[in-house]
Amino acid sequence: MTGISVRKQAVAEIASQAVAPFAKITESPDDLFGSNVFSLAEMKAKLPKDVFRSLKKTIEKGEVLNAAVADTVASAMREWAMAKGATHYAHLFYPLTSATAEKHDSFITPDGEGGAVSEFSGKLLIQGEPDASSFPNGGIRQTSEARGYTAWDVTSPAFVIDSTLYIPTAFVSWTGEALDKKTPLLRSQQALNRQATRILKLFGHEEIANVVAFAGPEQEYFLVDRRFFMSRPDLLSAGRTLFGAKPPRGQEFEDLYFGQIPERVIAYMVDLERELLKLGIPAKTRHNEVAPGQFEIAPVFESANMAADHQQMSMVMMRKLAIRHGFECLTHEKPFAGVNGSGKHVNFSFGNSTQGNMLDPGDTPHENAQFLVFCAGVIRAVHKHGGLLRAAIASAQNDHRLGANEAPPAIISVFLGEQLSDVFDQLKAGGAKNSKSKGIMEIGVDTLPKLPKDAGDRNRTSPFAFTGNRFEFRAVGGGQSIAGPLIALQTAIAEALDYIAGKLEASIGSGKTLNVSIQTVLTELANEHAAVVFNGNGYSEEWHQEAEKRGLLNLKTTVDALPQLNTPETIKLFDKYNVLTPRELKSRHDIYLETYVKQVLVEAKLVVKMGKTIILPAAIRYQAELGAASASSNAAKKLLGEVSGYADKLDSGLASLEKALGHESSDVASEAKHLKEEVLPLMLSVRGAADALEGLIADDLWPLPTYQEMLFIR
Ligand code: ADP
Ligand code: MG
Repeated sequence: MTGISVRKQAVAEIASQAVAPFAKITESPDDLFGSNVFSLAEMKAKLPKDVFRSLKKTIEKGEVLNAAVADTVASAMREWAMAKGATHYAHLFYPLTSATAEKHDSFITPDGEGGAVSEFSGKLLIQGEPDASSFPNGGIRQTSEARGYTAWDVTSPAFVIDSTLYIPTAFVSWTGEALDKKTPLLRSQQALNRQATRILKLFGHEEIANVVAFAGPEQEYFLVDRRFFMSRPDLLSAGRTLFGAKPPRGQEFEDLYFGQIPERVIAYMVDLERELLKLGIPAKTRHNEVAPGQFEIAPVFESANMAADHQQMSMVMMRKLAIRHGFECLTHEKPFAGVNGSGKHVNFSFGNSTQGNMLDPGDTPHENAQFLVFCAGVIRAVHKHGGLLRAAIASAQNDHRLGANEAPPAIISVFLGEQLSDVFDQLKAGGAKNSKSKGIMEIGVDTLPKLPKDAGDRNRTSPFAFTGNRFEFRAVGGGQSIAGPLIALQTAIAEALDYIAGKLEASIGSGKTLNVSIQTVLTELANEHAAVVFNGNGYSEEWHQEAEKRGLLNLKTTVDALPQLNTPETIKLFDKYNVLTPRELKSRHDIYLETYVKQVLVEAKLVVKMGKTIILPAAIRYQAELGAASASSNAAKKLLGEVSGYADKLDSGLASLEKALGHESSDVASEAKHLKEEVLPLMLSVRGAADALEGLIADDLWPLPTYQEMLFIR
């Protein structure tokens, strides 16, 4: 069968397909939520009291788990999982890709007498040893010492999907070095807790529970009919279209955002949400997004570690359920040129059970002062480590989205909103103005203005925006793990809070009151970090110039951004707070750079292959048809000239691209630079010729599903 008939056949099938009515969620939400999770409640019911108490201490206070407890837990966990239909267990881990990894083992062990017993020991629960030599490790692990260990993360509960019990784990080398994203996430959480607690103590709180970060990731994604997906090698292998002319109708009517959700998609969403709820993932919001075929799902926020695990599992389930519904789910940052790409806005705050959310302005001036100190800490962190935050969201994929029309630019700045900016401006001047009397007064804590809970206006153009009781990191890409950005944020904030706590402690130690000390520190911070606050239009050209004047980095691509992981400031930051050793950090830099190179190389090879074997042949066939008709048709003759022109351009473009791919680089960094500077532009020029041909070649000869066909779901 030729490509032509596959494409046309898919269209015909879709046209005649009856949309199955969606299966309503009939279970009560209470029964459904977490029904496949070995939750605390489940453990409480299944475990002896002393074992449960001991486990809870480990979960809440990080105390070491003893072997007897682990055995009892493992046995209860296995029984629970088998009752849910599980036959296997898998340590789930989060390697340095954007994906999850899992190795399944059966509970069954032969009993030596021709039978078998089901077993699961504490040892197997606590530690796994996946044959993991083919995970990226950036030189930390030689293949000769390929051993990697997975270690049970007691703070993230196990769950069952289909016939497998999944156990979230950290993944480390035999030397104890982190090979994953969970290990440093947990470490950065500890660092943040320690420093935030110091500040809370200064505010006189006596009972202070563990401070943790909270994250609520809003996930944008595209759905594409699987029949089209399967005949697009670019979508299959790169997750994005490398060819495709802009359709006559895209998103210009602005009628899609929050528009009615197509029936087929609702069926998918309902099904997906049911599966997520069973896993204890609190899916809450769903809507149409700006681009055709684009949607969003957002859960209720959770602790950063849980949110990161749940977000990874959400992406797995999104893909899995899509296939059941005849779709392919794309989380790529820019699957289609010319329409919006997909981000993952990470809403971020931190707090505890005794003092609540540290980024909530609260109701009283005293709470306001505490809020301002923590808020200033975040601003300092973002200002001092903007380069790191940029690097934490860098990928070949996100490069296509950042700075385009739908996403913040690569400049990391903070949006505070009018009201909060005004407060910081007043602090800068060393005195808070009473907005009613307009008189200048001391910023004694008692006289700080009362802040409203809702910061008012939104700013969609800012990469890092305050939204009333949290910050929203909007530059994170749709396909990325949120762990990387969370690690960077938590560590940078820990450092800022450490600095602030040190200043306050010294000032109080020298006999100054808490109020005066806070005043002084806030004024100093407001001045030192004013440059990172920007409330204007982040999409504008003026901002690029202004940001440069302010000394803010504008790292447009991954190749520009990744070296930020190698700066002395970043190395010191991660080392000082025991989040990543210099070796661990370097391995990450190397892996991410290598990943960039591999990604662009795959795409470039796809462009060559598709150009040569799919698009050029279509052009040549059409040229032949036109050639035959030219004798009797002026239109054919004219068209032949046009088609031939672009076909030649395509051909020579492909030749240049192939030549550029033959280039030998001395190391990964120069290869990355070569790809960015030479290869990516050549890919675009090949695409230009191909997309022009798409506008000329007879529809029945065009071999690839078009944007029109893929984007509009009916
Ligand atoms: P938006 O108006 O930006 O769509 P939503 O109310 O839909 O905002 O919330 C977006 C995400 O922010 C959700 O995941 C939500 O749970 C999360 N969120 C809300 N409050 C906080 C908070 N204090 N800390 C972290 N995330 C939060
Ligand atoms: Mg939002």
